[in-house]
Amino acid sequence: MTRVVSTSPQRPSDVVVEMPVTKPAAVLAAAAQARVAQREWAAAAPGVRATALAGIAQAVADNAAELAALAVREVGKPATEAAGEVARAVALLRYYAQQAFDPIGETYATGAGLGFTARRPRGVAGLITPWNFPLAIPVWKSAPALAYGNAVLIKPSPDATACALRLAEIFTAHLPEGLFTVLPGAADTGAALVSCVDAVSFTGSGAVGRGVAVAAAGRGIPAQCEMGGLSATIVLPDADLGRASVDIAYAAMGFAGQKCTATKRVIAVGDSGPLAEALAGKVGELGLGDPAEPKVVVGPVISDAARDRVADAVTRARAEGGRVVASGTVAGDEGWFVGPTVIAGLGPDAVLNREEVFGPICTLTTVPDLDAALAMANGTDYGLVTSVYTADLDVALAAADRCESGMVKVNAPTAGVDFHLPFGGEKDSGYGGREQGKAAALFYTSSRTVQIGANR
Ligand code: NAD
Repeated sequence: MTRVVSTSPQRPSDVVVEMPVTKPAAVLAAAAQARVAQREWAAAAPGVRATALAGIAQAVADNAAELAALAVREVGKPATEAAGEVARAVALLRYYAQQAFDPIGETYATGAGLGFTARRPRGVAGLITPWNFPLAIPVWKSAPALAYGNAVLIKPSPDATACALRLAEIFTAHLPEGLFTVLPGAADTGAALVSCVDAVSFTGSGAVGRGVAVAAAGRGIPAQCEMGGLSATIVLPDADLGRASVDIAYAAMGFAGQKCTATKRVIAVGDSGPLAEALAGKVGELGLGDPAEPKVVVGPVISDAARDRVADAVTRARAEGGRVVASGTVAGDEGWFVGPTVIAGLGPDAVLNREEVFGPICTLTTVPDLDAALAMANGTDYGLVTSVYTADLDVALAAADRCESGMVKVNAPTAGVDFHLPFGGEKDSGYGGREQGKAAALFYTSSRTVQIGANR
């Protein structure tokens, strides 16, 4: 690929941005410049970094409507969710502005001497980001990286280039030259980035993430990879079905199901009839269509290829014995619209219950008891988030203990985790430690041990 072309999924004739990709030589040059800027940034008092991040937070807040509108236009994110994403970015920046003041180590008694640790920035952090959270993901990686004294180079998804470049305008106005740079491009630009930074944080698909982790390991640098998901929601017979069905409808179909944390598998314990009926009702009520409309919950998917993958998945599921129990029709003059679909009657080994399809589609499976539900929830290569709906706290806690996922939600949707909680998955969903919250400090810094005296 020599040029980045980012088009609007609801109106593909609308070219949001078109530009040349960043060549590997330019990536290396940006890294060299970042390395120089980082030394001074790391040596600055924490208050300097906190003030810069707080200034960026305010600037993002001041431009919230424009940023949200850009996310709607570039990736088809429904307007209400896009506004929420900008608010999350502001909150993250404010949170990490304060983290700059946190203690950076521990002290140890060593008899006559003293030992202490001090966390130090890695250096230049390379961030490789997907298109589905075009503002929040670049921010949730770069805010802690900067707070702890690193420089930042971001390789955004080609499909979210305009959002990343707009963020760069805002960030660079508050930061020293060369400390924060966005490098538009695709695989070659990303590979060049991994070849020259001191740590790499990646979010995207499993296939690409594994390659990034291997390349980073080859260079001996730390890598953190957040990858796909196939998140399950278990609904027990004592659950509040009204609440569960609303949550599932939004978590499976909101933003056309294009979240790593989207509910992809609904597992009903006992009789699934009432849940199927409630879910069909809620899916039928979702606002569908132009994502700029405030009431719309399900807009387009990102590309024609993504739309075809959803259509193919429905065909294949039918061939495997599945039946459509809920669906909707999304109309648009042009654009990559596809109706939300719930498919029942598939076995745990059906393709749709094993492989992530990034679109508004989920399965509904009936199992006899909680053991079978957990076996199915855990029985995939993914392990991002599992939700459990029940009125019994003991059952919820026991189930949470047995979920093989990085995150567990009780009586709450799989999608959406508070910005100050550690975020990440197990198995093929995550590699290399958690993001967000205080966990981010562990990735963006390394620990130096200092011992004073004694030791004879
Ligand atoms: P993707 O893997 O296609 O691309 C992710 C990023 O990697 C992009 O910037 C891309 O240009 C870059 N890239 C591609 N090839 C590369 C290479 N060889 N070397 C370095 N970089 C390279 O993913 P996507 O389609 O943008 O995003 C969708 C996927 O992301 C889904 O699988 C979804 O589940 C996942 N995702 C996961 C999380 C999470 O936190 N677990 C969050 C959001 C999205």
